[in-house]
Amino acid sequence: MLEKTISEKNPCPTDHDLELYLLRVHYDLPSRKIQSHVESCPICQDKLRQLQEFYRLLDQEMARPIPREAYLLAQGLEDV
Ligand SMILES: [Zn+2]
Repeated sequence: MLEKTISEKNPCPTDHDLELYLLRVHYDLPSRKIQSHVESCPICQDKLRQLQEFYRLLDQEMARPIPREAYLLAQGLEDV
């Protein structure tokens, strides 16, 4: 599967990491580690687009802020 395309130099973040990356963007907390990977990885760009679409629909339906727990998780992402 495409998501198993992992190289030592430039490993793909997990789906979970990509999700947290989106949360960081939402709170204006860019994650450079993942961003630099995503910019050079069409696979992750595609995944991010799908995640973004998912969250966009979620926002429309629920119209409520992301839980604080998720925000704190996103804050800690850079240290992982
Ligand atoms: Zn990737």
